[in-house]
Amino acid sequence: MIVLVINSGSSSLKYQVFDMQKEALLAKGLVERIGLNGSILTHRPTGKDQVVIETEIPNHDRAIQLTVEALTHEDHGVVSSLSEINAVGHRVVHGGDRFSDSVVINEKSLAEICALFEVAPLHNPPAVMGIEACSHMLPGVSQAAVFDTAFHQTLPNYAYNYALPYELAQKYSLRRYGFHGTSHKYVAERAATMAGRPLEDLKIITCHLGNGASITAVDGGRSVDTSMGFTPLEGLIMGTRVGDMDPAAVPFLMEKEGLTTGQLNDLLNKKSGVLGVSGVSSDFRDLEEGAAKGDERCRLALDMFAYRVKKYIGAYAAVMNGVDVIVFTAGLGENSASMRRSICGGLGYLGVQLDEEKNKGRGEADVSAAGATCRVMVVPTDEELMIARDTYRLLK
Ligand code: ADP
Repeated sequence: MIVLVINSGSSSLKYQVFDMQKEALLAKGLVERIGLNGSILTHRPTGKDQVVIETEIPNHDRAIQLTVEALTHEDHGVVSSLSEINAVGHRVVHGGDRFSDSVVINEKSLAEICALFEVAPLHNPPAVMGIEACSHMLPGVSQAAVFDTAFHQTLPNYAYNYALPYELAQKYSLRRYGFHGTSHKYVAERAATMAGRPLEDLKIITCHLGNGASITAVDGGRSVDTSMGFTPLEGLIMGTRVGDMDPAAVPFLMEKEGLTTGQLNDLLNKKSGVLGVSGVSSDFRDLEEGAAKGDERCRLALDMFAYRVKKYIGAYAAVMNGVDVIVFTAGLGENSASMRRSICGGLGYLGVQLDEEKNKGRGEADVSAAGATCRVMVVPTDEELMIARDTYRLLK
């Protein structure tokens, strides 16, 4: 069975194609600047040269059409005809409290995804554009939706409720949902396999540290707490997002600076985080370079980031009454040995001890010292493979 995985943003669309019999990646690609000048499709068939197509791409329908043309092309294609694509799996950010698992897309589930626009105005509409484009361009092909929030639907009520007036929170479904669930689930499962122990027996803390960053307590394979909340703004400090902050600072800033809600949202989501603190960059490589050259605000941003992650690890060890494995994933978590060292320093009381040499390596690895009772692992995330697996499970 061939599965096309789509991650659709407002002006971009990423795709991957898998042969699920072998779980083999056949191709991946990216359409950028949809609806803008300079639209471009970059197609990367496995084992062949990449192809770049620059042409007008006014909407998602055209983006999917070009994707399908690239996938079936006689030179750089990976399937001989459209009919070989058996199913499409979509990444949908918000499943609200309605979806605790992936679903087959039909009229009813699509209406429910659209009903969540109110809580996910930035994230769900582009996913629906991708779903509709596939319905138009791949008529008759079954589709599934895989939600970032679904894995966190197992949070207990005392972890997901905010201490607002109860009726008001109910009225607006205002609660912690959590995000990056597909990634947290994937790396927790991989970590259990690497540890050679059943997932059900393990207390795992998964740290997804990329541009967006979140951390999850996974007890026996179930998410029991997670740092992102009603939106992906809460929790860890991120590339450009503020993370946890006293909510009273919001009206204070609005009043003092005369900001509208839109401006304030922009400030907290796009101008804060390590970019805001350093004044240099949201990219951790730039911050590490800056700090090495003596830039104090780059150093401060890195210290604040590591401190916040460490604090959550302590909190989640408390939540689960212990921790067997800490997993690092995503751009920073997978690639920055120095950030892992900063975070893990002083966690000896939890049984954490890094092997300095192993920590400097690349790729999937257990980087803890021999005999450490809490294992530290690096696991490259693969959200697309998880989406393909769920799509296959639902539609095979
Ligand atoms: P997202 O998918 O949320 O955009 P990624 O998981 O791709 O993010 O992570 C991107 C971030 O990872 C970048 O901001 C960059 O700072 C960080 N990163 C990637 N490689 C390295 C590296 N070698 N050292 C430090 N940070 C890195």
